Amino acid sequence: MAQNSSSSSERNIVILGGSYAGTSTAHVLLKHVISKLPDPSSYKVILVSAASQAICRPACPRALISDDTFPQEKLFVNLSTVFSQYSKEVFRLVHGKAIKVDHTERNVFISLDNHNTDTETISFHALIIATGASTPSPLLGLNHDETTLKSSWKIFREALRNARSITISGGGPAGIETAGELGEYLNGRAGWMTSKLENPKVPITVFTAGSNILPLLRPSLAKTAEDYLAQVGVTVIKDTRIVSVMPPGAGTEDVGAKATLTLSTGGNATIETDLYIPATGMLPNTSFMEAGLLARDGRIEVDTSTLRASKAGPRVYAVGDASTYARPAVHNILAAIPVLCANIKRDLLLAAGQGASAGNDREFKEDMREMQLVPIGKSKGVGAGMGYKLPSLLVWLVKGRDYWLWTTGGLWSGKQWAKES
Ligand SMILES: Cc1cc2nc3c(=O)[nH]c(=O)nc-3n(C[C@H](O)[C@H](O)[C@H](O)COP(=O)(O)OP(=O)(O)OC[C@H]3O[C@@H](n4cnc5c(N)ncnc54)[C@H](O)[C@@H]3O)c2cc1C
Repeated sequence: MAQNSSSSSERNIVILGGSYAGTSTAHVLLKHVISKLPDPSSYKVILVSAASQAICRPACPRALISDDTFPQEKLFVNLSTVFSQYSKEVFRLVHGKAIKVDHTERNVFISLDNHNTDTETISFHALIIATGASTPSPLLGLNHDETTLKSSWKIFREALRNARSITISGGGPAGIETAGELGEYLNGRAGWMTSKLENPKVPITVFTAGSNILPLLRPSLAKTAEDYLAQVGVTVIKDTRIVSVMPPGAGTEDVGAKATLTLSTGGNATIETDLYIPATGMLPNTSFMEAGLLARDGRIEVDTSTLRASKAGPRVYAVGDASTYARPAVHNILAAIPVLCANIKRDLLLAAGQGASAGNDREFKEDMREMQLVPIGKSKGVGAGMGYKLPSLLVWLVKGRDYWLWTTGGLWSGKQWAKES
């Protein structure tokens, strides 16, 4: 069934993606922008999300182990509940997946089921793309929606009960945090004076193509992380990538499958593993956009200071992991949202013929200082903030205790955006 849902007098501001970037943009526009435009009732914010819930994505490395690791009602939050504060005249939530953007005719095509048989076309006056990025392992976020995430966790947890070895590819924070959590859960931690856990129950191996893990942190912090990993039965192998996986879907289509992994070291070196977690790289969720609008890495090309995707036409923007505006991180999104929304407001005022009150562009600049917190299990961690090395205790306090779950309540509900910034 195909529906066409907008009348020509409606000015739809369509946001694709209901996670950090999309929900924040929606709240700011609804709280601080629409009411300041001429004829506010002619605008409608439409949030389109493949998932009907938002999750605290950084918590996945611990959450994937068991539902007991976090209160589930805080980890998964219904979008319909947090947006019920806005009237249906000004806001609409669409549970569906954008399958095509026609940026010339200014329409978005949405699949309302998983088979593209029930579809809706929505025309847009402004479009914000915030569809994020997928991980190769489906265990680490809403690659599609909460149902598929939960079912991949279920399969993984069943296989975990009998696993005697685990291999992870990727030395970035996702791979390292997952290794640390699984290591401590399965093997415990070496005694106080012991630097390495000997004969762990389930040896875990992390392969990284780099000469160091955690490349965004200084090498001394990466070394400390390796030491903490050794205490929970995790071994790091550097300068080595996994070049092929048999069966090919192990770790991606089947997260509970045993696998044979071929290493880049030559001579057809292989290893056998009971569980494989590919945590390398991110794939931007942008296949619905015309290829000419994308950068080589698949993200939507934007002006990195204004967040406009000008090649796609007027009033088109991209923010979050789907955008080239910055490196993928929540703190970058939170810093960019006020800038993005100020520029959207400016463009809407200009389009409404209110150039005199539109003001100037606001500009975003990514903070390039060393900034990353990486818990290693429930009590240790390494990290830096604003260029300063942080002690393990502080990493635990800020992130390791609950992986930022203490921050997401205000974000999803919009309380974080109550004041205009
Ligand atoms: C394991 C892990 C740990 C992390 N830890 C941290 C951390 O500690 N600190 C930090 O700053 N960052 C961290 N990050 C990065 C952070 O999670 C991302 O930067 C953030 O989630 C990006 O938010 P987003 O809104 O751009 O998209 P995402 O969170 O990727 O969400 C995308 C949303 O869009 C929806 N969607 C996808 N395709 C479509 C479509 N076609 N149509 C409609 N909806 C669609 C999805 O269902 C989802 O709801 C971590 C990432 C991972 C994977």
